[in-house]
Amino acid sequence: MVMARIQFSLRIVHGRLRSPKCKICKMCRMQLNESGMLCLFLLLSLMLRSGVQAAPRLHSSSNTIDPEEAAGLVEGDMKLNEYEQQDMQGRNGLIAAEKRWPNNLVIYKISEDFDDSHRAAILKGIATLEENTCVRFREAEPEDTAYVDISAKPGGCYTAVGYRGTVQEMNLEIYPLGEGCFRPGTILHEFMHAMGFYHQQSSSIRDDYIQVVYDNIVPGKEFNFKKYESTVVTDFELGYDYDSCLHYRPGAFSINGEDTIIPLDPNAQIGQRVGLSAKDIDKINIMHKCPLLV
Ligand SMILES: [Zn+2]
Repeated sequence: MVMARIQFSLRIVHGRLRSPKCKICKMCRMQLNESGMLCLFLLLSLMLRSGVQAAPRLHSSSNTIDPEEAAGLVEGDMKLNEYEQQDMQGRNGLIAAEKRWPNNLVIYKISEDFDDSHRAAILKGIATLEENTCVRFREAEPEDTAYVDISAKPGGCYTAVGYRGTVQEMNLEIYPLGEGCFRPGTILHEFMHAMGFYHQQSSSIRDDYIQVVYDNIVPGKEFNFKKYESTVVTDFELGYDYDSCLHYRPGAFSINGEDTIIPLDPNAQIGQRVGLSAKDIDKINIMHKCPLLV
Protein backbone atom coordinates (compact mmCIF):
# COMPACT_ATOMS: atom_id res chain seq x y z
CA MET A 1 0.00 0.00 0.00
CA VAL A 2 2.80 2.40 1.02
CA MET A 3 4.73 1.49 -2.11
CA ALA A 4 1.68 2.14 -4.28
CA ARG A 5 1.22 5.57 -2.70
CA ILE A 6 4.87 6.42 -3.25
CA GLN A 7 4.71 5.35 -6.87
CA PHE A 8 1.58 7.46 -7.28
CA SER A 9 3.34 10.41 -5.65
CA LEU A 10 6.25 9.96 -8.02
CA ARG A 11 3.84 10.34 -10.93
CA ILE A 12 2.38 13.50 -9.35
CA VAL A 13 5.80 15.05 -8.87
CA HIS A 14 6.81 14.25 -12.41
CA GLY A 15 3.51 15.48 -13.79
CA ARG A 16 3.50 18.75 -11.88
CA LEU A 17 7.16 19.65 -12.03
CA ARG A 18 7.73 18.27 -15.52
CA SER A 19 11.21 17.31 -14.42
CA PRO A 20 12.34 14.09 -16.00
CA LYS A 21 15.64 14.37 -14.15
CA CYS A 22 14.21 14.77 -10.65
CA LYS A 23 17.01 13.33 -8.53
CA ILE A 24 14.86 12.54 -5.51
CA CYS A 25 12.42 10.66 -7.70
CA LYS A 26 15.26 8.72 -9.26
CA MET A 27 16.68 7.86 -5.87
CA CYS A 28 13.29 6.84 -4.56
CA ARG A 29 12.76 4.57 -7.49
CA MET A 30 16.00 2.83 -6.59
CA GLN A 31 15.01 2.58 -2.95
CA LEU A 32 11.41 1.56 -3.34
CA ASN A 33 12.19 -1.97 -2.37
CA GLU A 34 14.22 -0.95 0.68
CA SER A 35 13.09 2.17 2.45
CA GLY A 36 9.74 3.56 1.45
CA MET A 37 9.39 5.93 4.41
CA LEU A 38 12.53 7.89 3.59
CA CYS A 39 11.33 8.39 0.06
CA LEU A 40 7.92 9.49 1.21
CA PHE A 41 9.55 12.10 3.46
CA LEU A 42 11.77 13.37 0.66
CA LEU A 43 8.87 13.53 -1.75
CA LEU A 44 6.70 15.45 0.68
CA SER A 45 9.53 17.91 1.26
CA LEU A 46 9.90 18.37 -2.47
CA MET A 47 6.17 18.93 -2.90
CA LEU A 48 6.03 21.51 -0.11
CA ARG A 49 9.01 23.41 -1.46
CA SER A 50 7.43 23.46 -4.89
CA GLY A 51 3.98 24.43 -3.67
CA VAL A 52 2.61 21.14 -4.96
CA GLN A 53 -0.35 19.68 -3.14
CA ALA A 54 -0.43 15.95 -2.50
CA ALA A 55 -3.51 15.37 -4.63
CA PRO A 56 -4.18 13.27 -7.70
CA ARG A 57 -3.20 14.85 -11.00
CA LEU A 58 -6.65 16.08 -11.84
CA HIS A 59 -7.83 19.07 -13.77
CA SER A 60 -10.32 21.61 -12.63
CA SER A 61 -13.58 22.20 -14.41
CA SER A 62 -12.67 25.89 -14.49
CA ASN A 63 -10.41 25.21 -17.46
CA THR A 64 -11.77 27.27 -20.31
CA ILE A 65 -10.40 24.96 -23.00
CA ASP A 66 -12.41 21.84 -23.63
CA PRO A 67 -9.96 18.91 -23.52
CA GLU A 68 -11.51 17.57 -26.72
CA GLU A 69 -10.03 20.67 -28.36
CA ALA A 70 -6.69 20.57 -26.58
CA ALA A 71 -4.72 18.07 -28.62
CA GLY A 72 -4.44 20.24 -31.73
CA LEU A 73 -5.37 17.33 -33.99
CA VAL A 74 -7.89 17.32 -36.83
CA GLU A 75 -11.01 18.99 -35.43
CA GLY A 76 -9.35 18.90 -32.05
CA ASP A 77 -9.42 15.24 -31.12
CA MET A 78 -9.31 13.03 -34.19
CA LYS A 79 -6.08 11.21 -35.05
CA LEU A 80 -6.10 10.74 -38.82
CA ASN A 81 -3.35 9.68 -41.15
CA GLU A 82 -2.54 11.76 -44.25
CA TYR A 83 -4.75 9.64 -46.51
CA GLU A 84 -7.67 9.92 -44.13
CA GLN A 85 -7.28 13.70 -43.88
CA GLN A 86 -7.45 14.02 -47.66
CA ASP A 87 -10.47 11.78 -47.79
CA MET A 88 -12.38 13.28 -44.91
CA GLN A 89 -15.53 14.28 -46.66
CA GLY A 90 -19.25 13.86 -46.35
CA ARG A 91 -21.50 13.79 -43.30
CA ASN A 92 -20.30 12.02 -40.24
CA GLY A 93 -20.25 8.24 -40.50
CA LEU A 94 -17.53 6.52 -42.49
CA ILE A 95 -18.90 4.42 -45.34
CA ALA A 96 -15.73 2.40 -45.96
CA ALA A 97 -16.37 -1.11 -44.67
CA GLU A 98 -12.68 -1.69 -43.93
CA LYS A 99 -12.93 0.99 -41.24
CA ARG A 100 -15.47 -1.06 -39.28
CA TRP A 101 -14.43 -3.39 -36.51
CA PRO A 102 -14.55 -6.99 -37.78
CA ASN A 103 -17.58 -8.91 -36.51
CA ASN A 104 -18.80 -5.72 -34.80
CA LEU A 105 -16.34 -6.45 -32.02
CA VAL A 106 -14.25 -3.60 -30.63
CA ILE A 107 -11.18 -4.79 -28.77
CA TYR A 108 -9.69 -2.48 -26.18
CA LYS A 109 -7.00 -2.26 -23.55
CA ILE A 110 -7.32 0.13 -20.61
CA SER A 111 -4.04 1.48 -19.25
CA GLU A 112 -3.10 0.62 -15.70
CA ASP A 113 -2.53 4.35 -15.18
CA PHE A 114 -6.27 4.71 -14.57
CA ASP A 115 -7.51 4.11 -11.04
CA ASP A 116 -10.50 1.88 -10.38
CA SER A 117 -13.06 4.69 -10.56
CA HIS A 118 -11.81 5.99 -13.91
CA ARG A 119 -11.58 2.48 -15.28
CA ALA A 120 -15.16 1.93 -14.14
CA ALA A 121 -16.25 5.12 -15.96
CA ILE A 122 -14.71 3.82 -19.19
CA LEU A 123 -16.39 0.44 -18.70
CA LYS A 124 -19.69 2.20 -18.07
CA GLY A 125 -19.38 3.90 -21.46
CA ILE A 126 -18.73 0.50 -23.04
CA ALA A 127 -21.76 -0.95 -21.23
CA THR A 128 -23.93 1.89 -22.57
CA LEU A 129 -22.82 1.10 -26.11
CA GLU A 130 -23.47 -2.60 -25.64
CA GLU A 131 -26.91 -1.99 -24.14
CA ASN A 132 -28.01 0.20 -27.03
CA THR A 133 -26.34 -1.39 -30.04
CA CYS A 134 -25.24 -4.76 -31.36
CA VAL A 135 -21.57 -3.72 -31.17
CA ARG A 136 -19.67 -5.77 -28.63
CA PHE A 137 -16.46 -5.04 -26.78
CA ARG A 138 -13.83 -7.23 -25.20
CA GLU A 139 -10.55 -6.62 -23.46
CA ALA A 140 -7.41 -7.31 -25.49
CA GLU A 141 -5.64 -10.64 -25.01
CA PRO A 142 -1.85 -10.89 -25.28
CA GLU A 143 -2.14 -12.31 -28.79
CA ASP A 144 -4.30 -9.45 -30.11
CA THR A 145 -2.56 -7.12 -32.54
CA ALA A 146 -5.44 -4.76 -33.35
CA TYR A 147 -7.11 -2.94 -30.49
CA VAL A 148 -7.90 0.48 -29.01
CA ASP A 149 -5.13 1.31 -26.58
CA ILE A 150 -6.77 3.59 -24.02
CA SER A 151 -4.14 5.76 -22.37
CA ALA A 152 -4.18 8.45 -19.66
CA LYS A 153 -1.57 10.85 -20.99
CA PRO A 154 -1.69 14.64 -20.65
CA GLY A 155 -2.90 16.58 -23.69
CA GLY A 156 -6.66 16.13 -23.56
CA CYS A 157 -8.85 13.50 -25.17
CA TYR A 158 -8.31 12.24 -28.70
CA THR A 159 -8.83 9.08 -30.71
CA ALA A 160 -7.92 7.41 -33.98
CA VAL A 161 -11.02 7.31 -36.19
CA GLY A 162 -12.31 3.92 -37.34
CA TYR A 163 -10.70 0.49 -37.27
CA ARG A 164 -7.00 0.59 -38.16
CA GLY A 165 -6.05 -3.09 -38.06
CA THR A 166 -3.28 -2.36 -35.61
CA VAL A 167 -2.89 -0.88 -32.13
CA GLN A 168 -4.70 2.45 -32.27
CA GLU A 169 -4.73 5.20 -29.72
CA MET A 170 -7.48 6.63 -27.57
CA ASN A 171 -6.35 9.06 -24.91
CA LEU A 172 -8.45 10.15 -21.97
CA GLU A 173 -6.50 12.55 -19.80
CA ILE A 174 -7.44 12.03 -16.18
CA TYR A 175 -10.03 14.53 -14.94
CA PRO A 176 -12.37 14.30 -11.98
CA LEU A 177 -15.25 11.98 -12.81
CA GLY A 178 -17.90 13.89 -14.73
CA GLU A 179 -15.49 16.54 -16.00
CA GLY A 180 -13.28 17.03 -19.04
CA CYS A 181 -12.40 13.74 -20.69
CA PHE A 182 -14.41 11.92 -18.02
CA ARG A 183 -17.80 13.37 -18.88
CA PRO A 184 -19.92 10.34 -19.84
CA GLY A 185 -20.66 11.85 -23.26
CA THR A 186 -17.00 12.51 -23.95
CA ILE A 187 -16.08 8.89 -23.33
CA LEU A 188 -18.88 7.89 -25.72
CA HIS A 189 -17.77 10.60 -28.18
CA GLU A 190 -14.26 9.13 -28.30
CA PHE A 191 -15.61 5.58 -28.70
CA MET A 192 -17.79 6.78 -31.58
CA HIS A 193 -14.65 8.16 -33.24
CA ALA A 194 -12.98 4.76 -32.71
CA MET A 195 -15.97 3.13 -34.41
CA GLY A 196 -15.70 5.42 -37.44
CA PHE A 197 -17.68 8.59 -36.81
CA TYR A 198 -16.56 12.17 -37.41
CA HIS A 199 -18.01 15.29 -35.82
CA GLN A 200 -21.63 16.20 -36.49
CA GLN A 201 -21.00 19.82 -37.44
CA SER A 202 -18.72 18.74 -40.32
CA SER A 203 -21.80 17.49 -42.14
CA SER A 204 -22.31 18.71 -45.69
CA ILE A 205 -25.81 19.87 -44.69
CA ARG A 206 -24.72 21.71 -41.56
CA ASP A 207 -25.28 25.23 -42.95
CA ASP A 208 -28.99 24.53 -42.92
CA TYR A 209 -28.77 23.96 -39.17
CA ILE A 210 -25.95 26.06 -37.71
CA GLN A 211 -24.11 29.30 -38.34
CA VAL A 212 -20.35 29.19 -37.92
CA VAL A 213 -19.11 32.59 -36.69
CA TYR A 214 -15.61 32.78 -38.11
CA ASP A 215 -14.84 36.15 -36.47
CA ASN A 216 -14.97 34.43 -33.08
CA ILE A 217 -12.65 31.54 -33.93
CA VAL A 218 -9.04 31.51 -32.76
CA PRO A 219 -6.97 32.48 -35.82
CA GLY A 220 -5.45 29.36 -37.33
CA LYS A 221 -8.14 27.09 -35.89
CA GLU A 222 -10.66 27.66 -38.67
CA PHE A 223 -9.82 24.27 -40.18
CA ASN A 224 -11.68 22.68 -37.31
CA PHE A 225 -14.91 23.99 -38.80
CA LYS A 226 -14.41 22.60 -42.27
CA LYS A 227 -17.49 21.33 -43.98
CA TYR A 228 -17.20 18.15 -46.02
CA GLU A 229 -18.92 17.37 -49.25
CA SER A 230 -19.01 13.85 -50.70
CA THR A 231 -20.26 10.38 -50.03
CA VAL A 232 -17.23 9.04 -48.22
CA VAL A 233 -19.15 9.39 -44.99
CA THR A 234 -22.89 9.42 -44.45
CA ASP A 235 -25.55 10.31 -41.91
CA PHE A 236 -27.48 7.20 -42.93
CA GLU A 237 -30.38 9.45 -43.97
CA LEU A 238 -31.06 10.30 -40.36
CA GLY A 239 -30.47 14.02 -40.85
CA TYR A 240 -28.70 16.58 -38.74
CA ASP A 241 -28.52 15.95 -35.02
CA TYR A 242 -28.13 18.88 -32.63
CA ASP A 243 -28.30 16.39 -29.76
CA SER A 244 -25.36 14.25 -30.84
CA CYS A 245 -22.50 13.73 -28.41
CA LEU A 246 -20.35 14.30 -31.51
CA HIS A 247 -21.51 17.91 -31.93
CA TYR A 248 -19.18 20.71 -30.89
CA ARG A 249 -20.20 23.02 -28.07
CA PRO A 250 -21.23 26.61 -28.96
CA GLY A 251 -17.94 28.09 -27.76
CA ALA A 252 -15.55 25.62 -29.42
CA PHE A 253 -12.22 27.22 -30.37
CA SER A 254 -13.50 30.68 -29.42
CA ILE A 255 -10.96 33.46 -29.11
CA ASN A 256 -13.22 35.88 -27.27
CA GLY A 257 -15.68 33.80 -25.29
CA GLU A 258 -18.39 34.43 -27.86
CA ASP A 259 -20.08 31.54 -29.63
CA THR A 260 -18.45 30.08 -32.72
CA ILE A 261 -21.47 27.92 -33.52
CA ILE A 262 -25.02 29.21 -33.35
CA PRO A 263 -27.87 26.77 -33.99
CA LEU A 264 -30.36 28.19 -36.48
CA ASP A 265 -33.12 26.53 -34.48
CA PRO A 266 -33.42 28.85 -31.46
CA ASN A 267 -34.63 25.97 -29.31
CA ALA A 268 -31.70 23.69 -30.12
CA GLN A 269 -28.98 22.92 -27.61
CA ILE A 270 -25.61 21.69 -28.84
CA GLY A 271 -22.50 20.19 -27.30
CA GLN A 272 -24.06 17.87 -24.73
CA ARG A 273 -21.67 15.35 -23.21
CA VAL A 274 -24.16 13.47 -21.10
CA GLY A 275 -24.74 10.47 -23.32
CA LEU A 276 -25.71 9.09 -26.71
CA SER A 277 -28.51 10.83 -28.57
CA ALA A 278 -31.30 8.80 -30.17
CA LYS A 279 -29.71 9.41 -33.57
CA ASP A 280 -26.25 8.50 -32.27
CA ILE A 281 -27.68 5.12 -31.29
CA ASP A 282 -29.48 4.71 -34.61
CA LYS A 283 -26.36 5.63 -36.60
CA ILE A 284 -24.21 3.12 -34.74
CA ASN A 285 -26.80 0.42 -35.27
CA ILE A 286 -27.28 1.16 -38.96
CA MET A 287 -23.53 1.42 -39.57
CA HIS A 288 -23.06 -2.02 -38.03
CA LYS A 289 -26.16 -3.52 -39.63
CA CYS A 290 -27.57 -4.42 -36.26
CA PRO A 291 -30.53 -6.77 -36.64
CA LEU A 292 -32.86 -4.71 -34.48
CA LEU A 293 -32.98 -1.85 -36.94
CA VAL A 294 -31.95 -3.09 -40.35
ZN1 LIG B 1 -14.13 14.50 -31.38
